[in-house]
Amino acid sequence: MENQLFVYNTLTRRKELFVPINEGRVGMYVCGPTVYGDPHLGHARPAITFDILFRYLRYLGYKVRYVRNITDVGHLVNDADSGEDKIAKKARLENLEPMEVAQHYENRYHKAMDALNVLPPSIEPHASGHIIEQIAMVKDILKSGFGYESEGSVYFDVEKYNHSHNYGALSGRNIDEMLSGARELDGQEEKRHNVDFALWKKAAPEHIMRWPSPWSDGFPGWHLECSAMSKKYLGDEFDIHGGGMDLVFPHHECEIAQSVAATGKPAVRYWLHNNMITIDGQKMSKSAGNFISLEEFFTGNHELLTQAYSAMTIRFFILQAHYRSTVDFSNEALQAAEKGLARLMEAYGNIERLQASGSGLNENIAELPKKSFEALNDDLNTPVAISYLFEASRIINTSLAGQLTLSAEDIEALQAFFDLFLFDLMGLRNEQKDNNASFESFAGAVDMLLNIRQQAKQNKDWATSDKIRNELSALGFEIKDTKDGAEWRLNR
Ligand code: ZN
Repeated sequence: MENQLFVYNTLTRRKELFVPINEGRVGMYVCGPTVYGDPHLGHARPAITFDILFRYLRYLGYKVRYVRNITDVGHLVNDADSGEDKIAKKARLENLEPMEVAQHYENRYHKAMDALNVLPPSIEPHASGHIIEQIAMVKDILKSGFGYESEGSVYFDVEKYNHSHNYGALSGRNIDEMLSGARELDGQEEKRHNVDFALWKKAAPEHIMRWPSPWSDGFPGWHLECSAMSKKYLGDEFDIHGGGMDLVFPHHECEIAQSVAATGKPAVRYWLHNNMITIDGQKMSKSAGNFISLEEFFTGNHELLTQAYSAMTIRFFILQAHYRSTVDFSNEALQAAEKGLARLMEAYGNIERLQASGSGLNENIAELPKKSFEALNDDLNTPVAISYLFEASRIINTSLAGQLTLSAEDIEALQAFFDLFLFDLMGLRNEQKDNNASFESFAGAVDMLLNIRQQAKQNKDWATSDKIRNELSALGFEIKDTKDGAEWRLNR
């Protein structure tokens, strides 16, 4: 394969040549959303980052099985294995069935992902649908001696694991420091050590989401679902595990420990993590009042936003930063992204206006795809790849201004370059054109109805004529009869 993809592996802390375990096939797992709130930028960034990787791996010819889960149980309000289940809490507050809450937010998540042109994963398993697999994994961990039961709950024995393995390998945390820094447990606690994490939790009487298990009626610990579901769909060892950097510890560190304890294998070859998003330099949080949902970005309906930003503006803005860099959202930065994307789309639209003359391929144009592949091969450097699209736009505009002659081959190469990089690999869409196209169809349909009405009038079929007029009015159309027919506009 001429393209050699290098990715930064969080585990080894260096860029490595990507070589899949099974030739031609890639298994990839990405931690999906916990469905208890509106989708926001923190959901958009990993989804878009791993969408680029998914698209590129497929372009490189791999058969990719991409698994992205839905967390609909077991993610507690307090990450220290206590507190209420986030979904159950929302359900209680809104007087709903927990699965109603999960389904509602899952639907909204999918809608936002569609708008962002994020391809659906190959498999999207739900934690609540894999309780049996999670119980089986807890049993395996108990069998290997790395888990212990306490008051109907089961915990992972981190200290014991660390004697024979390196707990902290992924996050670089030092377990000894964590143990000495942790407060002494007073013997009243179920856990042996503070660093131990829950594999299974016994449900309190008021806890609604519960399943029977050999230890108690309860629910799985949050870290367990990803280990159990990746094992089920991708096997004991698979290629790529992705997620946001905030998941490195404890979530992914715990996943490694669970897999090693259950199967003897660390499961993942390459760990990839996207960096975080800030808004006006601040961490996003409900308490800081800068928590903006994706829908609020799309509608502009938030006090911090001076306008609406389309889904493609958000996507483009995220791709203009390398996934391992932080991204800071601000109105100015988003407006710049909006303009930049419009420039690219305009240049693309101008390709058909180019006049061909002469023959041969311009060297600068021939270099564009090569350089862009180099950028993507270098740990998915999308900002650099995008800079070559701007380069291509400059070539197109220079030629339109009559300052550069392009051959038919040049024009064809420019077209192919945009088609592959802007649309297929970056996954951007021409929203303006999509909107125009749907408006054209819509306007065509209204014109057609008015033509039918005109014919009906000529045939003195007043019933049909009135029916069309009245029903269009009811839909908000204002119809004005003229000498040669009728004009319309939409009043809303
Ligand atoms: Zn996960």
